[in-house]
This record gives sequence, structure tokens and C-alpha cells, in this order.
Amino acid sequence: MTPIKIIANWKMNGSHEDIISWIDYFQNNVEIKNQINCILCPPLCYLDTVKKIVLNNKLDLHLGSQDVYADLDHPSTGGVSGRMIKDLGCNYVLIGHSERRIHFQENEDILLGKINSAIKNKLNIIFCVGETFEQREGGITKKIIKKQLRILRGLPVGLISVAYEPVWSIGTGKIPSLESIEDVHQVIKSGLKDYFTNKKDIPVYYGGSVNLDNAEMIMKLDSVDGLLIGAASLDSSSFSGIVNKITAKK
Ligand code: PEP
Repeated sequence: MTPIKIIANWKMNGSHEDIISWIDYFQNNVEIKNQINCILCPPLCYLDTVKKIVLNNKLDLHLGSQDVYADLDHPSTGGVSGRMIKDLGCNYVLIGHSERRIHFQENEDILLGKINSAIKNKLNIIFCVGETFEQREGGITKKIIKKQLRILRGLPVGLISVAYEPVWSIGTGKIPSLESIEDVHQVIKSGLKDYFTNKKDIPVYYGGSVNLDNAEMIMKLDSVDGLLIGAASLDSSSFSGIVNKITAKK
């Protein structure tokens, strides 16, 4: 059985103080055996702080980066490499998030550079895919998802997981029907099996307006292996509440 993962994506939010109080609440409210299911992705500049708190308090919380730069062969002011991310204590990295695809023009070439940098440094990749509202309305959701997944063909299977995040669901309070989530996750899982010679089940997480009220029913779906949570992860009581509700499930 795939171990569940609950990922907190803080995006460009929070402060040093917020991190300290968030972790304090988390460690007092989430049992050690459930902390191992969680990955905190704070802004890059706070990763070092989180690493120190996790080590000092012997927490089992994993660290993830919201981004990584491709290994470039020219001087790259402001770049943060896979090696540096690893050095900061991360075992996970988000790649392909729709906000980066849209606002930072991350195309397939850029994404591939990031993927290669992550693999070289043995970082687990959480590769985000998802359709826009127009694509869903146009009935091409599955086509779009399959196209986005093609980049993963032939990569080392053990380092790959996928987050299905419909673009129209992120930060809007809207989620697809449960049937639709299950359907798309099945498409992702079966599509990925064709891409890898090792037919291992690739974990697929759902993201998009997950909160304390809907997390449990989404996690009950057979093909949902975890959740990627943005806004609701900023509040430690709501994130910890979600973790405690759903870790009882699978
Ligand atoms: C996200 O940005 O990955 C996300 C899922 O955001 P939210 O939970 O706020 O929709």
C-alpha cells in the first residue's frame, strides 16, 4: 500500500515567527507516527529555520522545496540548485505547479532541467499537472493531463509522484466532483504505468481547495494517495486537523 502524504504548500506566505508557531502547534497536536506522512514546503528562505527546528525537536516532519533551478552551465544570479535544496534538508521538491507554469513561463524545457537537477540530487519529485477551466469545459482534461505527464517517461520511478491540481480549483474554493477526481487519478496511474518499465504504482495526490471539511471525503477515494494543500495549510490547526482526520483512513 502507498503511504499517504499530506503536503503543505505555503507559496509566498508566512514569516519567521509564523513558522515557529506553526511547527509548535503541529508538534503538540500531530503524533510522531503521523508526522512522517507530512511534507512542509515553506518559502525557500525559511527552509533553514525549519530544518533546525525539525532536528532540534526530533520531529518526523519532511521538508520540501517549492522550486528548484536547473543545473545551468552559465553564471546564474539568484539560482538555487538541487544540491543546495538537498543541503537545506529537503527530500522533496514541487515541480510543474501551475502558478510557476503560468507566472514564470515554465515550459517543458525548463521543467525538464528542474527534473534532472532533482533526480541528480535524489530529491523526490512531486510533479504537478492539471487542466484550466477552459480545457475542462472543452472536454480535453484527460488529453491535457496525458500531455503534461509525457515529460516523466523513462525517469527513475522511485523518485516520482504526481499531484493532480485542476488550475481552476486552486485557491477558488471549488473542487471537481469526487467521481471526476477518481477518474482523472485513474487515468494518471494507468498512463504512468506505460511510461515505466517497472510497473510500480506511482503515488498520485489531489490538490485544489482542500480544507478541513472536504479532505476526508477526497482521501476516501481509492486512487487518492495524499493531498497537496495551499491556503488551508497556512493555519496549523487546520493542517494538523486534516492530518489527524485522514491518517486514520488508509
Ligand atoms: C496549491 O497551490 O497547490 C493549492 C492546492 O492551493 P489551494 O489549496 O489554496 O487551492
